Amino acid sequence: MSEIAGTAVSRKYSMGVDIGSTASKCIIMAEGKEIVAKSLIDVGAGTSGPDRVIAAVLKDSGLKLEDMTHIMSTGYGRHSLEIAHSEMSELSCHARGAYFQHPAVRTIIDIGGQDAKVMRIDENGILENFVMNDKCAAGTGRFLDVMARVLEVKLDDLEKLSAESQNEVRISSTCTVFAESEVISQLARNTHKRDIIKGIHRAVASRVGALARRIGLVDDVMMTGGVALNDGVRLALEEELEHDIFTTELAQYNGALGAALFAWQRSKKKEI
Ligand code: ADP
Repeated sequence: MSEIAGTAVSRKYSMGVDIGSTASKCIIMAEGKEIVAKSLIDVGAGTSGPDRVIAAVLKDSGLKLEDMTHIMSTGYGRHSLEIAHSEMSELSCHARGAYFQHPAVRTIIDIGGQDAKVMRIDENGILENFVMNDKCAAGTGRFLDVMARVLEVKLDDLEKLSAESQNEVRISSTCTVFAESEVISQLARNTHKRDIIKGIHRAVASRVGALARRIGLVDDVMMTGGVALNDGVRLALEEELEHDIFTTELAQYNGALGAALFAWQRSKKKEI
């Protein structure tokens, strides 16, 4: 067993690995209670991302793979992780992770790189119902990634720029390809980037809002996934749905967190 800061490790650890379409995330938890290490790399399924996030959490924690009582994979690329003892759908993992972070949560809006999901969970954190868009890039992180590239703006800067908008532009196309052309023609007309970005956030919110209305919102509403890092989208969604929507620092790690919690549960079951 590994040593941390010179003391023999007596605690037990589980690992959750979320191999998304766009990013890889990994969390090590102690006894299913405390996060010991986490890592994120902006490349997902089919890349070196999963190996690199796993190497990073092991290095940060001073632990070895053999110290993990159970390793669970989730996300789009979950079937490809050979070291995983088991796998679980990202829907269940998101429900579990969100409930762990905030037990009063009843609705989760997850916007990832390639899909958007709205999940309803009960008072025990069990998934009751969900709706998902994985057919169309509009209303996903991909839409924002494409637009940021066209605008030559970093993803990190979208939030700040949209907050400075004075004269929001309406993006009328729901299709990513047509919306991209709209953005290009706005740029050609010298429209401020901040106003185009505000319109882009509105377009994502309108798309995801329609998805959320299909399932109905019950408070508390939590936003997860990488797009939650952009507060401009969260605010646009609040306006669209007329509901308070909160997020947490672990928003993009939420699936990996759920997987680490399920992994811990599995290893406990084996002990019984
Ligand atoms: P997946 O699980 O499908 O890989 P994630 O939940 O990790 O997706 O989210 C990835 C998306 O998050 C990216 O497509 C991107 O749009 C968005 N994103 C990632 N980092 C940031 C950031 N710093 N600011 C704004 N958006 C971000």
